[in-house]
Amino acid sequence: MRFFKTPWLQLAIVILIALLGMVGAIDNIQNPYALACILGLMALGFIGMGLGELRGAGASAHSSDGANLKDDFEARRAQLDRELDTIANLIQSHLDANGRYSDSLAQADQGLLPSTNPEKVRAIVRLLIDANEKMRRETGELSTSLEKSRSQVAALRSKLVEAQAIGMRDSLTSLSNRRAFDSNLTKEIAQARAQGTEMCLMMGDLDHFKKVNDNYGHPFGDRVLKYFAELLLKHIKDGDIAARLGGEEFAVILPQTTLESATRLTDQIRGRLEAQQWMNAQSGQLFSKITASFGIVRLSEKDDSETLVKRADTMLYEAKRTGRNRIIIEDTA
Ligand code: GH3
Ligand code: MG
Ligand code: MG
Repeated sequence: MRFFKTPWLQLAIVILIALLGMVGAIDNIQNPYALACILGLMALGFIGMGLGELRGAGASAHSSDGANLKDDFEARRAQLDRELDTIANLIQSHLDANGRYSDSLAQADQGLLPSTNPEKVRAIVRLLIDANEKMRRETGELSTSLEKSRSQVAALRSKLVEAQAIGMRDSLTSLSNRRAFDSNLTKEIAQARAQGTEMCLMMGDLDHFKKVNDNYGHPFGDRVLKYFAELLLKHIKDGDIAARLGGEEFAVILPQTTLESATRLTDQIRGRLEAQQWMNAQSGQLFSKITASFGIVRLSEKDDSETLVKRADTMLYEAKRTGRNRIIIEDTA
């Protein structure tokens, strides 16, 4: 049923139905089919929108997340495609029935006016009543089927929203992932410009994390990553966005925040991580302390998201280069 997925053909069907409706009005014929078909087309459009979103989301999922997520998107897309075909078939069959009804009316029109024979008139009226009754019944069935499809589509849409949210989160820490960070940063920059407010970006990276993994194992490394993510979430305010950009690299978008506040907040996080005691749960053995380095920049008039990230990254690199476990703030004076 590719036919119904072409926007021009959908438009052609709408026009056709509008014409049928007009013919019905001109002839003063009650035609619930037109209404039913328009309802059907609305549902078709609704599903089309869902498919569009799903395609977009599926494409993003493909770019960075795992094969499972992609399979999930594919399965839901196929489900929506099937739903679309069902509705398209329903509309087609009712369009056919509508055509048959029009034929009956034309037949009646030809026979009724010239006829003076009461028996013939009665037979034609009966034919019309039967055709009308049949049409009403089929319209009722169409409405029920459309209602069923509508609730199936609504369920699929909510699963889609859920899947999209999952696609924007880092699976280990549940922070925003790189994709969500990029899109949020662009939005926040635009908003800061529109409102004329200050905004900062902080980037942080765990120090010598390769050694942490090598010395204490990868699962322990994961535990540290989760802890650090929680630390970020605990310290930021509403509206700030913490993200894991990849590996052991994190960033926090700080809208409506001065460089001084951003520095104070970052130093609390840095100090808290440094003070944390790490212990092997089984042996009770204490691990050495874990630290992180940070870079902070403030949004300037010329910045876009790329230059802002690049400068924050330069500050972070500087913090690494000058000894780690420190914060380097861009000198904007
Ligand atoms: P630096 O202080 O210069 O940042 O050194 P580093 O060792 O932290 O940086 P490097 O880039 O050399 O190593 C990063 C390490 O992070 C290597 C990689 O195994 C580890 N890593 C990346 N992702 C994960 C993860 O999801 N879990 C764990 N446990 N380790 C990870
Ligand atoms: Mg590191
Ligand atoms: Mg790194």
